[in-house]
Amino acid sequence: MTQKLADVLEKTAQEGALEPEKTEKQAIQAPEDQGDCVPGCEICHGVGWLVTPDGEPIWCPNNPERLAVLLDEAGLDWAPPDWESITPRSRKQELVMRALERVAETGGGVWLWGPPGVGKTFLLRAFVWREVQRREARFMTMLEMLDEMRDAISDRGTSVVEVRRRLIRLPVLAVDEPEKANAGTEFARANVFEIFNRRYEGGKHLGLVTVVASNKPPKVLGDYLASRFQARKEGFVTVHIDDLEDQRR
Ligand SMILES: [Zn+2]
Repeated sequence: MTQKLADVLEKTAQEGALEPEKTEKQAIQAPEDQGDCVPGCEICHGVGWLVTPDGEPIWCPNNPERLAVLLDEAGLDWAPPDWESITPRSRKQELVMRALERVAETGGGVWLWGPPGVGKTFLLRAFVWREVQRREARFMTMLEMLDEMRDAISDRGTSVVEVRRRLIRLPVLAVDEPEKANAGTEFARANVFEIFNRRYEGGKHLGLVTVVASNKPPKVLGDYLASRFQARKEGFVTVHIDDLEDQRR
């Protein structure tokens, strides 16, 4: 998705949405596989899509088909709760949420680490779900990243270079269990290093957002990347979350 959907929807709402039946249909193509919307949808009247003032067709936010496409894009199996509806369970969790929100605005990265069960992966998924509504964003485990590279090696159609380039250019990339890169081959580890390092360089500069959830501190991927994830001036922070006892009731 190239268009910032939230902006478009807001603009559309302000300027008065053009309903599909009032536009010249031959000039505008519906989004692919647009499906039908929920019965009686008040936004699109069941058509499943809208046209922006610029004449661009966009999904109706209520369209169930859009949900499936967005989930696919985000690399998620099901939709996490909306970001705004999440009540932090601890002060540390709240701090993490604010750090993620900040990095979404400025570009940069967050290395989130702590023991299992403190909700790191949950927050990462919810964050990607928030971001994919407005730009390209993807959640993946490190094992999935290694799999993609291995598949690229065995498939003559795509190359590892292409996989790497795609991951370097993604506006928002969230990686779960990055420490599993150490289980990969030397070649795979070099590619993972390159992806994180290039995304660091594109952080503030291009607004790229790189977030990870790990059981380990960033030095698990080497001192060099660890220093990158502690470069506050460049918009990168490391946050340790371990305070399950600080539960809010
Ligand atoms: Zn609708």
